[in-house]
Amino acid sequence: MKLSDNLDYGELGFKCGIEIHQQLDTDRKLFCHCPVDLKDENADGRFSRYLNAVAGEQGETDEAAEQASSKNTEYIYKHYSRNNCLVEADEEPPHEMSEEALNTVLTFSRMVDAEIVDEIQVMRKLVVDGSNTSGFQRTSMVALDGEIETETGKVAIEDIELEEESAGIHERDSNKAVYDLNRLGVPLIEIGTDASIQNPEHAREVAMKLGMLLRSTGKARRGLGTIRQDVNVSIEDGSRVEIKGFQDVKNIDKLIRLEVERQKNLVELGEELEDQEVLGDNVTHLFEETDNHIISAVLENDGAVYALKFPGLTGKMKQKISGERYLAQELVDYAKANGVQGILHTDEDLEKYELVEEFEEVSDIFDKKDEDVIAAIAADREKAKTAAKAVKERANKLYTGEIPEETRGAEQNFTTSYMRPLPGAARMYPETDIPPVRITEEKAKEIDQNLPETLEEKHDRLKDEIGEQLAEQLVNSRKIGLFNKFEDSVDKKDLANYIVNTLPRLESEGLKASEEDSEKILKAYAEDKIEKNHLEKASKLAAEGIDDPVEEVLESQVSEEKVEEAVRKVVEENEEMIEEQGMRAQGALMGEVLARVDADGSRVAPVLQKLLQKKTG
Ligand SMILES: [Zn+2]
Repeated sequence: MKLSDNLDYGELGFKCGIEIHQQLDTDRKLFCHCPVDLKDENADGRFSRYLNAVAGEQGETDEAAEQASSKNTEYIYKHYSRNNCLVEADEEPPHEMSEEALNTVLTFSRMVDAEIVDEIQVMRKLVVDGSNTSGFQRTSMVALDGEIETETGKVAIEDIELEEESAGIHERDSNKAVYDLNRLGVPLIEIGTDASIQNPEHAREVAMKLGMLLRSTGKARRGLGTIRQDVNVSIEDGSRVEIKGFQDVKNIDKLIRLEVERQKNLVELGEELEDQEVLGDNVTHLFEETDNHIISAVLENDGAVYALKFPGLTGKMKQKISGERYLAQELVDYAKANGVQGILHTDEDLEKYELVEEFEEVSDIFDKKDEDVIAAIAADREKAKTAAKAVKERANKLYTGEIPEETRGAEQNFTTSYMRPLPGAARMYPETDIPPVRITEEKAKEIDQNLPETLEEKHDRLKDEIGEQLAEQLVNSRKIGLFNKFEDSVDKKDLANYIVNTLPRLESEGLKASEEDSEKILKAYAEDKIEKNHLEKASKLAAEGIDDPVEEVLESQVSEEKVEEAVRKVVEENEEMIEEQGMRAQGALMGEVLARVDADGSRVAPVLQKLLQKKTG
């Protein structure tokens, strides 16, 4: 076990589970026939929608949903004709489920020994942040109760789902959110572990292993944003926090370590502080004459200023609570979640803001002691009020050391910040537009009989044959699919070299052949139509946009007659040498022939050998 910090996670009552979301590289989207290969292109149009929270089947409205819809945001969707049809716009019912996507999830499920359900029932999961045009995400449970083995121990896989990917957020402000619609509907596999992950390093091990298994299916999309993790983490005295959408698997341990640090430090702060109440009030009248430009602008627009008193926090607002994150940020998050940019407080240089007098007056009203902090929130009347209320509620918990259960987002420096309340349970109902899919016994058997070799197994099998380094590069290559297709028909080492060396080198020179072209070229090579030393030439031609690179290479390829003629000539010119050295002259002669004709050694050798044998008797 490798731990770079000295916390005893067992002692802390550490609990952690992860949920992995991986986009699948299928021929089409999950519920329509648009392609999943997303490119960096300009949108072809846009439309907008408003979404409202409605009660679920149990009559309750989801808290997270309500918070999102209460903001009355306009959702703008950028539409891409290559990747979108009417299904993504929610103007047409969904098509049948992509069988390729379902097969991939079934295959993965069996790779982790999970039990496949008898019938796949598509459900609608309520989502009102605008990331789905319909206001819900289609999801279906595919398998349950799997497990994976890691060096640190077994971890159970609780459930595996097949879902549709949401639209990607493009930009967001307090009144509108702009989404890219091209991503919506890409098949997504979701894998949830139980909470038995033992420490941050173990979480990394689990995430890496699941990633490796996903890539082993050959259907995992690669590249930025194609895999995301949600992390559930808590310590005994803290609370369950869900960190959403973390993309950097290799640093998941850092993220978790810092979240544990945050919870631990906040619990300790609670023990340190005397239990006191945070006070708050509308103090707009004290700022009417202010010289501060920002606040005076807010008030001119009929805004308001709310003040809060945090007892005993002087000197603590800038105290680090995890990594680079300090305590004040913990409170500012709640203002931001309510559409307010920030908080001004007495632990800052108020002279810089020309607010010294105003804060003195507020301090008098609140009977501020030296150890107390006064904070102010200035904004649009309603926003200032709700933000002040949210910050006050959060600040009150600092005094008891209570960690709120909530959804948090990962920051660049691996700390986390408050995003929204945890989603409630009332958020699923059946999708009646799509009939359930029965998984027959024959189907399950077929899946079991065709489980792919894992990349780990492939690496171990190939390392002696093609070398450790090449094997390692190969299993990490995005083009491993090409290897899988041709490894039985051509020399493995040559093939691996072409995939991990030749193609990337050409790409770095701006000569990128498409996967389809590379496949055609390898097929011609496997059928002995073109020679090994023409693989690169053909790939170059393909990258340059030549329609049929194989044909082009064949045309330029030296004919049998030409090879024979060159061999005959070289042999004639070197009769003396052949007399002296016999068959040993072959190497030198071979070099001469190759200098004269652009042919593969493997074609020259047999011709030369035959002629030499004839000459030397
Ligand atoms: Zn579509």
